[in-house]
Amino acid sequence: MTLTRTLKVAVPVPLRRLFDYSVPRGMDLPAPGCRVEVEFGRRNLIGIVWEQSTQEQAAEQASQKLKPIRRVLDAAPVMDPDLMQLCQRAADYYHHPIGDVLATALPTLLRQGQDAQVSGELFWCLTPRGQHAEVDALSRAPRQQQALSLLKEHPHGLAVPMLSALSVPRSALQALEKKGWAELREMAASESSSKQLLGELPLPPGIEQEAAIRALREANGFAPYLLDGITGSGKTEVYLQAMEPLLAAGKQILVLVPEIGLTPQTVRRFEKRFNVPVESLHSGMTDRERLHGWVRSRLGEARIILGTRSAIFTPMKSPAMIIVDEAHDSSLKQQEGLRYNARDLAVWRAHMLDIPVVLGSATPSLETLYLAEQGRYRHLRLRERAGDARPPTLKIEDCRELPGHTPLSPRSLKAIADTVNQQQQVLVFLNRRGYAPVIQCHDCGWQAECERCDSFLTWHKSIGRLICHHCTHERRVPAHCPKCGSSALTDAGSGTEKIAEQLQKAFPKHPVLRIDRDTTRRKGSLDAALAKAHSGEASILVGTQMLAKGHHFARLTLAIVLDADGGFLSADFRGPEHASQLILQVAGRTGREAHRGTVIIQSRHPDNTLLHTLLSGDYATIAARLLADRRMAGLPPFGHVALLRCESMKANECIELLDQLAVLPVDPRVQLLGPVPAPLERRQGRFRFQLLLRADLRAPLHGAIGQLLHVLDRHPLARRCRWSLDVDPVDML
Ligand code: ADP
Ligand code: ZN
Ligand code: ZN
Repeated sequence: MTLTRTLKVAVPVPLRRLFDYSVPRGMDLPAPGCRVEVEFGRRNLIGIVWEQSTQEQAAEQASQKLKPIRRVLDAAPVMDPDLMQLCQRAADYYHHPIGDVLATALPTLLRQGQDAQVSGELFWCLTPRGQHAEVDALSRAPRQQQALSLLKEHPHGLAVPMLSALSVPRSALQALEKKGWAELREMAASESSSKQLLGELPLPPGIEQEAAIRALREANGFAPYLLDGITGSGKTEVYLQAMEPLLAAGKQILVLVPEIGLTPQTVRRFEKRFNVPVESLHSGMTDRERLHGWVRSRLGEARIILGTRSAIFTPMKSPAMIIVDEAHDSSLKQQEGLRYNARDLAVWRAHMLDIPVVLGSATPSLETLYLAEQGRYRHLRLRERAGDARPPTLKIEDCRELPGHTPLSPRSLKAIADTVNQQQQVLVFLNRRGYAPVIQCHDCGWQAECERCDSFLTWHKSIGRLICHHCTHERRVPAHCPKCGSSALTDAGSGTEKIAEQLQKAFPKHPVLRIDRDTTRRKGSLDAALAKAHSGEASILVGTQMLAKGHHFARLTLAIVLDADGGFLSADFRGPEHASQLILQVAGRTGREAHRGTVIIQSRHPDNTLLHTLLSGDYATIAARLLADRRMAGLPPFGHVALLRCESMKANECIELLDQLAVLPVDPRVQLLGPVPAPLERRQGRFRFQLLLRADLRAPLHGAIGQLLHVLDRHPLARRCRWSLDVDPVDML
């Protein structure tokens, strides 16, 4: 009797299945979680062993048909069972190829076959050539010069976190590396075990904070919590105090934060409190650093893991709690490839690990709030601001009569003047970057449009370009109208660049600081700008949603919200929820210390009743109203939806394909709605259509998705279109 040993392997290909391989005689059977090299088509790929099987029946066919694995890369698994289970569940739930889930979950270098046995800490050091290099030689590259002289002062090298704390940009270090002057080295981690856990004393908690901390400390095994605390109520202090006994017991904590929240300030807050290694995982890291952080977490050396959404896939040796800060934030949802929501994966993972999970927010998503109301999540409330801070006052400014070219109303300007004259800070919030969203011809009405998208080109005045915000298309600003030749070109509407310019003119003595994606593109520039905002050096801040979240500016007492109406009028069913959250988050930046904050909401639809509900600043009231609307419409959380998007150079190809899917005989409990054009019907030259699937229950919805995908996988038109599936979409674009 011959036993054939076979393996099911997750291979990085876009197919929703595992592949069988045999193990050659004489080769040890690799355990699940080990990497293997396999032949796939004509390529050699690195996959992960998912299951072993030593089956007698399979022997005959298997030995004939199955290809052998070529090589085993690991003696011991690189993926732990809990992480494999999480990836499998994500693949099933999002109907996504397991191989592509691994592309999100595993560090690039691991997938490329690099050794996973790194340990110690990463240091930047000078090479012998760098030690002899002249600092003056870099006088034209001040950042590299700064980095070089710092490294000269530290002959044993500087640890990566230390360099970022010193604001040395990575780009400067990489430039030195290119010159052959500096290099990354790995050294044994410095022992810090003798230090006491607390680096600073905890703040004496308020009554509500204390109750929340007690509840979290009592958690035993899997328990989901919603920490529903208004802005400035001290949620972070609650996390810190809930973490303390777990860290004292030698355990690890995973903290997810929105992309923008992961600034040195956030990291420092955790580092200051606890003398334990903190690992921060974010998009600005090199592949090497990412692998390093991954390994340190897996070995249990990193004790607090602070990261953006993909950090939910970080392996941990002794996990004790998962915290999702700003759990409503849409950056937790990945919008391409594996369209997962890290908030939901956090709850699954906590369940698999049998540990508590905390979702913290001042404006929880309606889904989360509903689960808390149902008693599925334990609802912890912080209704008061911490310390002496009081909640801000919100006002609506009726702007129906305001001329189009004056974005700020006279009353807003007066309030800004009063505030800066009292040495307080102002935030003007507008979620639109650039100078003006459109330029047009005064004589013939021509407007500058993107050739490839259904959208106007935004004028970026300082660089003299017209840029499409939906694709990469850009061009110079024309001197004359391309249609009639007139030189009377004017702009309409305003973006942050124009607001900042107008405010600087109106308040020449008060520095205006604009913070948006355009002003913070360079590495390190966001931190530098935030430092200016924190120090109070800038009196007037103008910004997009980058400025709305999480920040604590001590002297900011006035916020002006421009163009608040868009979200409430949007076709997206989540529009009003997102708009309310954003306004309350902006409001939450004001009056966080001694002086009370004021928020002026400029509106051209001041009668909107939702806007009036917002004035109380009470998110629970507005959420209750929005939930009632959702219940009527059978939309989440009262029903479940998935979106099938399809795009093609030819509109009729999408429509035909989706039309055929829309008439498939699916479970009658599932509605197939569409096809309809996407809100942005054409992007980068492709036409975009979508089919919405809706059902009251998840099971029939997933059944119908399976049926649709089965047809799509074999449909000739599907090969000509690009299609993607989004389960629980947060954005209908
Ligand atoms: P949130 O995350 O809920 O918006 P933070 O955790 O940023 O709030 O806290 C807001 C401010 O209140 C911070 O400056 C914090 O140091 C302070 N704070 C938090 N808890 C207390 C407390 N118990 N006593 C005094 N100040 C506190
Ligand atoms: Zn013209
Ligand atoms: Zn475009």
